[in-house]
Amino acid sequence: MKRDDLFEGLSEQQKEAICYVEGPLLVLAGAGSGKTKVITHKLLYLEREEGLPAEGILTVTLTNRAASEIRHTVAEFMNGPEHNYPIGTPRWHCLQILRREITALGYGTDFVIYDDDDREALIRHILREFNIYEALYKGVASRLGYLKASLVWPEEFVSTGDGFGFDEKLAKVYVRYQDELKRCNAVDCDDLVMLTVRLFREFPEILEQYKERYQYILVDDFHDLSPAEYEFLRLLFANRNFTVTADDDQCIMKFKGGESRNIYKLEEDFPEVRVLPLEKNFRSTQNIVKVFGSVISRNTSRKDKRIRPLREKGEKVFFYWLPTEEDEAKYVVKNIREVYLRGEYSYGDMAILYRIPSQSRTIEEALKREKIPYRVIGGENFYERKEIRDLIAYLKLIQNPHDNVSLRRVINLPSRGIGIQTLTKLEQESKVKGTSLYETIKEVCSKRGSNQPIVERLRSFVKLIEALRKRAGDPVSEILKSIMELSGYGLNLSEEKLQYIGELMASTEETGLEEFLEKVSLMSSYDDVCEKDSVSLMTIPMSRGLEFPVVFIIGLEEGLIPYFKTLEDEEGISDERRLFYLGMTRAKDILFLTGAKKRRVLSRLQEQEPSRFLKDIPRQYCAWIEKSPCHIPASLGDGKKPKTFRVATVYKTGCRVRHPKWGIGVIRECYGEGDEMKVCVNFPKVGLKRLAIKYAQLERL
Ligand code: ATP
Ligand code: MG
Repeated sequence: MKRDDLFEGLSEQQKEAICYVEGPLLVLAGAGSGKTKVITHKLLYLEREEGLPAEGILTVTLTNRAASEIRHTVAEFMNGPEHNYPIGTPRWHCLQILRREITALGYGTDFVIYDDDDREALIRHILREFNIYEALYKGVASRLGYLKASLVWPEEFVSTGDGFGFDEKLAKVYVRYQDELKRCNAVDCDDLVMLTVRLFREFPEILEQYKERYQYILVDDFHDLSPAEYEFLRLLFANRNFTVTADDDQCIMKFKGGESRNIYKLEEDFPEVRVLPLEKNFRSTQNIVKVFGSVISRNTSRKDKRIRPLREKGEKVFFYWLPTEEDEAKYVVKNIREVYLRGEYSYGDMAILYRIPSQSRTIEEALKREKIPYRVIGGENFYERKEIRDLIAYLKLIQNPHDNVSLRRVINLPSRGIGIQTLTKLEQESKVKGTSLYETIKEVCSKRGSNQPIVERLRSFVKLIEALRKRAGDPVSEILKSIMELSGYGLNLSEEKLQYIGELMASTEETGLEEFLEKVSLMSSYDDVCEKDSVSLMTIPMSRGLEFPVVFIIGLEEGLIPYFKTLEDEEGISDERRLFYLGMTRAKDILFLTGAKKRRVLSRLQEQEPSRFLKDIPRQYCAWIEKSPCHIPASLGDGKKPKTFRVATVYKTGCRVRHPKWGIGVIRECYGEGDEMKVCVNFPKVGLKRLAIKYAQLERL
């Protein structure tokens, strides 16, 4: 491959970003400006032109799907097979590191990974044990996930708790949960990153080894990394050879510090970082760029970015306001059919985006009626089906018999007459001894002279697991067959369920056990995108990084987007505006926006108002049709902000400010409103200062 091929068609700014290797680089640019392309081509450039070894370039993406796309493009360029470049999500990279190094933290390298379902099963178990209302498990799971992603360790959470209310209980659950994971030699998905950070912090010699290995680091979509993921990369960034791309307007992961937190932190941690813009939009037509540009420009406290549409004017953006949600669904389906019949687009080129999952129902019914093939992305996942989860639990137990969660799931599956009472007794015993359930069961079985029927049943379970463990080296499809044969699982299952199991076996092909379990645990619904020719339906967050020639965004109503739970403050509204922007920026050629006057919300028929974001759309770029009166005031057009947005808080967490004496600092916290507002600012030279805005003579940067 020649150098010219590598740069063919790229803009000057893209080339500059690719060739800049003299120090840290932040490419700060809007949606569709070719950031992912820069990352892909820079990977090739570093290998080809700078002579770095492929395994020495660490490439980080937000989704597994994005990683495989980059891997695929690179292989195409090289005219060769897909190479084993280290390209993956932060979790994937951390998993590779932990598989080699985790013994330093007291785990075995054959640890299993608990996915959301296993995590919830364990939390329910602990809530029962602590006599806490079990139905809270989902909330607890998400709080624990948030704590881990924010790098708050169990012991820290205990010490900061005020000792009152729910947090105190939560702290107990967190500690117990983490202990239990370790006892089972298991980690959950959030542990992957948190434990790697701990490993790097506690064992500098291990960190050094990885800093040496990764001579250059590329990160796409840096804005959406969690604080834990940021810290993992920051530690590796110490070599200062890295390029990250970001668009704060697309940030949808909510953590303290707001949407620009990673960018501010990066500038703080690496003050020499060079910031380069990409100012051309390659993806969308002019009309679409004008529309999403006007909407996002109403957000205050965003990094300023210019974006010039490069493509032709294109079709106007369609806006339709309809009497009912059924009319809306009919309208969408009618247009899908029309666009399809024009012959330029296939069904796979079209996507329908919405705010919350339940919105898909009416649209699905309409699509079914018209026999249009579609697929809901991130709906019920194949791997979430009960029979599939049961078999995966067997596989996990074969890989690691100390995995208590999987053992609890399968010990009486199919029924072997081992009930809750027996299990509770065994649990108590294993807790006293500090051993896993499986070890306790084996011990009970080995006691001579004990011929009680229950002991016999436990013996036959142990025999089953031991027999299966002998086959752990077989391909997964073979192991699955053995499980079905030896355990009798499947004898009473319906034809449909057996078909799903057949599908599972077929999908595993020749994969080995460890590889298969890793793949399943790291698969997130974001990656579940179908290649077949069908219309894709998904919530807006699921559409990150994707693009479609034809996009429909439905339900543009107050309460849906912006979502009713976020209406309290300007920050919540800004979050929702970013979501709306994210959705619109997925469209290449044609964008449809729709809303309905009447909609069933939580099974009540409701009168809906049009979304407040619609009035920010300049009408000259739209075909605006109101089938039911909706009275949206027309936008003032480009560049002029309506008065109502001026009152937005100017200072918020993460903002940079200049003080006449202490220089530049970053706002850590804000309290109070308007004139009475106080802020807590971290100045690198003097530390934290609490200031009243009224008197402090701060200048916002
Ligand atoms: P997002 O913010 O949505 O992730 P992005 O900034 O990563 O977008 P890309 O996905 O890299 O943008 O590019 C958007 C589209 O523009 C893609 O279809 C890509 O192939 C195309 N593109 C990027 N750079 C160029 C270029 N120099 N010439 C022509 N097309 C380009
Ligand atoms: Mg991208």
